[in-house]
Amino acid sequence: MSVYALIPAAGSGTRLAADSPKQYALLAGRPMLWHAVRAVCLPQVESVFVVLAPGDSAFAAHDWSAFAGKLEPLYCGGETRRDSVYNGLVAAMAAVEADDWILVHDAARPCLPRKDLDTLMRETQNDAVGGILALPIAETVKRAAEGRIQSTEDRSRLWLAQTPQMFRAGLLMQALQRASQVTDEAAAVEQLGLSPRLVAGSRENLKVTWPEDLAIAESILKGRA
Ligand code: C5P
Repeated sequence: MSVYALIPAAGSGTRLAADSPKQYALLAGRPMLWHAVRAVCLPQVESVFVVLAPGDSAFAAHDWSAFAGKLEPLYCGGETRRDSVYNGLVAAMAAVEADDWILVHDAARPCLPRKDLDTLMRETQNDAVGGILALPIAETVKRAAEGRIQSTEDRSRLWLAQTPQMFRAGLLMQALQRASQVTDEAAAVEQLGLSPRLVAGSRENLKVTWPEDLAIAESILKGRA
């Protein structure tokens, strides 16, 4: 059984309010996407598929030579993250077997620690369903209606989903074919009536979304260099 990575990188990243899509925002001198690729480009990962918007002209302007032979750009991104992952998976299936593992990782998570990925792979490799990195919620969580608190959630049962999310290619394909509205792969697998494993990750694996996240991500990456 082989392991592959697939990185959806076809978003526009409007919340970042930058000139270029956020996957190309520079962190420690490299585009965010470069750091996300490096984080999943382990020796045991056969290829890293990167799903780009069909009209993407920025990818080719950067230096990807560090990943020569492993990086496979696919210009088939869609309207939503789910569409990009699905389209990328359809294209990747030319090389991937149904039983192979796929690590789906957001381009917007450039600081994934190696130890978190190792833990995910160790704890999930014998799982019948698959698993995802996630964080138990530390804060108290409110449900809102029209700007006012409606209720307080029981945080002891709540986790924040991260990536990578690790599923067998065949199962993921079947799940995404049926689920058109999901915001992560696990939600599609849940809709098949299955319960993916939760593997505790860390806060370092933040999702860069807002302008202030860029400085936090950069300081994490520079601290490791
Ligand atoms: O927009 P958001 O931060 O949720 O995006 C998560 C990931 O999904 C990013 O890596 C982004 O580039 C990707 N994405 C995509 N295609 C879209 C929207 C988002 O590949 N249409």
